[in-house]
Amino acid sequence: MKIAFITSEAYPYAKTGGLADVSFSLPRALHKRGHDVRIIMPRYYVVDKRRFKLTLIHAPLCVPLGFTEKWAAIYEAYDTVITYFIEHDNYFGRDSLYGYGDTPFEDNAERFAFFSRAIFPCLKAMEFEPDIIHCNDWQTGLVPVFRKTHYASDPSFTDTAVITTVHNVGYQGVFHRDNFIWTELGWDLCTAEGLEYFDQINYLKGGILFSDIVTTVSRKYAIEIQSEEYGYNLAPLFRKIKKRLYGISNGVDYGKWNPATDTLIPQQFTGDDLSGKGTCKAALQKRLGLPVNRKTPILAAISRLTHQKGMDLLAETVELLSADERFQFIILGSGEEWLIRKFEDLRSRFPAIFGIYWGYDESLAHLIEAGADIFIMPSRYEPCGLNQMYSMKYGTIPVVRATGGLDDTVIPWDPANGTGTGFKFTELSVRTLYGTIREVLRKYRNQKEWKTLQQNAMIFNRSWHDAAGEYEALYKLALKGV
Ligand code: ADP
Repeated sequence: MKIAFITSEAYPYAKTGGLADVSFSLPRALHKRGHDVRIIMPRYYVVDKRRFKLTLIHAPLCVPLGFTEKWAAIYEAYDTVITYFIEHDNYFGRDSLYGYGDTPFEDNAERFAFFSRAIFPCLKAMEFEPDIIHCNDWQTGLVPVFRKTHYASDPSFTDTAVITTVHNVGYQGVFHRDNFIWTELGWDLCTAEGLEYFDQINYLKGGILFSDIVTTVSRKYAIEIQSEEYGYNLAPLFRKIKKRLYGISNGVDYGKWNPATDTLIPQQFTGDDLSGKGTCKAALQKRLGLPVNRKTPILAAISRLTHQKGMDLLAETVELLSADERFQFIILGSGEEWLIRKFEDLRSRFPAIFGIYWGYDESLAHLIEAGADIFIMPSRYEPCGLNQMYSMKYGTIPVVRATGGLDDTVIPWDPANGTGTGFKFTELSVRTLYGTIREVLRKYRNQKEWKTLQQNAMIFNRSWHDAAGEYEALYKLALKGV
């Protein structure tokens, strides 16, 4: 199949979050399965033309926008798959992708209307008539809308089906309704049945309404977002389209995340021989200034410090635990200042327990996965989650809230049968988290059972090859006009 993969970020070119990783791995996995995949993304200032060997392949590119025309250029880079970059410096020649700090750019509605519109002339200029246009998140929400309106009878796209993957319903691209002008569509589409959303406009809603198939990044999350609690006001829409709503879990790049081959950790290890994990543990304790002790269980978290990730609950819980349990706690993260202060306060009171690193550090993330014993993810919601899957591969036992992808991927430990890969809890409270972690620490003391649990976890496998196979099946369904 010919697949155009539309994304606002892709590793290694530009990354702010998990979407960039998916946009790296999925197109390559699809390519390996024999498909012709082209990624299309903006040419941000951070996409260095020299470093990434970008070649100018088409200019000028005329993009209709808001009843006028904008002029753009297409650059190309090749790294297993072709990536096309849409360049228009007025919109994308900035230091960051979506805003400064937590403040989004004021013209994001215009920027991503432009990007979405530019996809069509770009594909035509490249003479690439895709079977599938695969969109991601609100930044590409207008692509399905344009496919079914401005380009409905364009011969280049008559047989093209459109899929949208929603990576996190918490981000929808909601703008003042005046921005509807950028779409060049009739105001009849700026109604509750169209893009209108509480007197504003919502790009993600457009993407969902106009796509042939909508996916999200786990089976459980696809169900959860149909409820008010998780749907962020789009629950009724998700319920309405549930026959074309699917959940496909992300995969793990085992080329990068595998303790048997990982070069970022001091000693490699496997399920059969876990001795290297002890070496990694000692190195981790040393690196974060904690007493080196193999017997002290290490609890760990690697996370954005946000409300979504439940880090506030975790801070309170570990404070309580430190009064009556023996453990060390390690956190690698970045995010909200008040949470940083809270953990810093704990570190100053219990320096032998708390190992902390603020910032983004990929190699420390690998060392934590390898050296820790228990990995905690108390998320309020989690569309897919990757760290629980990385943890399992490294024999670091996940303790997760039973939500979204966490619920789909972790199987509860059953000591009677020696089955399961981790621990789950449902109620979102300090009391429950405290009780769960205490129970897990008790289980940790039985090292024979713990080893079985580790070995179970390490067998867990969710490859991008399998995930791509599931997308492939949905592409076929979309082409049949389901
Ligand atoms: P989300 O995309 O919601 O942040 P995921 O669990 O899906 O959560 O993916 C997060 C990814 O980012 C993981 O690969 C995780 O290891 C990584 N990560 C998060 N924070 C940091 C950090 N401070 N340093 C290094 N890696 C991090």
